[in-house]
Amino acid sequence: MAGLAKKIWIIANWKSNKTIAEALDWVSIVGPKIPKSENLQAVVCPTFSALSEVKKIITVNNFNLMVGSQDLSPFPEGTYTGEEAARILKEVVELSILGHSERRKNFSETDEMVANKVKQALDNNIVPLVCVQDENTSVPADVKLVAYEPVFAIGTGNPDTPENANEVAKSLKQKYPELEILYGGSVNSGNIVSFIRQADINGVLIGGASLDADEFIKILKECAGEAT
Ligand code: PEP
Repeated sequence: MAGLAKKIWIIANWKSNKTIAEALDWVSIVGPKIPKSENLQAVVCPTFSALSEVKKIITVNNFNLMVGSQDLSPFPEGTYTGEEAARILKEVVELSILGHSERRKNFSETDEMVANKVKQALDNNIVPLVCVQDENTSVPADVKLVAYEPVFAIGTGNPDTPENANEVAKSLKQKYPELEILYGGSVNSGNIVSFIRQADINGVLIGGASLDADEFIKILKECAGEAT
């Protein structure tokens, strides 16, 4: 098949996994293998404690890999114990995953909190990647990147069908025409091409399968064949 004339985001969400040493190991294996294609944007989202070391190794080696966080504070810098403010995070990240369903479920994150996080991200030039669970989840103003992540598909090995994911992406784009839409939920090297070939899907957010460096390299190779 001829390559896709669109940019493809491949975003690794490590969740609460990997020590700093394990994170650096992964980056040193994956980094040199990332295709230099302009149409392929790989992003890694490690834990907060690994961010600055991961950023350093990527910068020193000039790897084609963006660094993202898995969250950020809904507040500005100040008296918010335990929070990571966007103004501080922007030293090491260019993107932040916001409103992931695991945060909505385990930390009672609301649409209002997500909107405040989006504002903090935008004020600090961090790209907010907002996770939506279906086409009815609200998307705050000025967001350009969204991941459709149906809860039944996250970490279950039971992905949505590429056709249904595309239908949801299409309805989101009808409501918010400026959006790029990613799909997330049990994506791996065996099924990724079927998602990124969908007309309205601009990439993927990957949890479990992103943890293994060799599997992530396979995923990148599958995409490189599509992104010309
Ligand atoms: C996620 O948590 O964003 C995700 C897509 O997880 P998994 O790939 O493991 O389903």
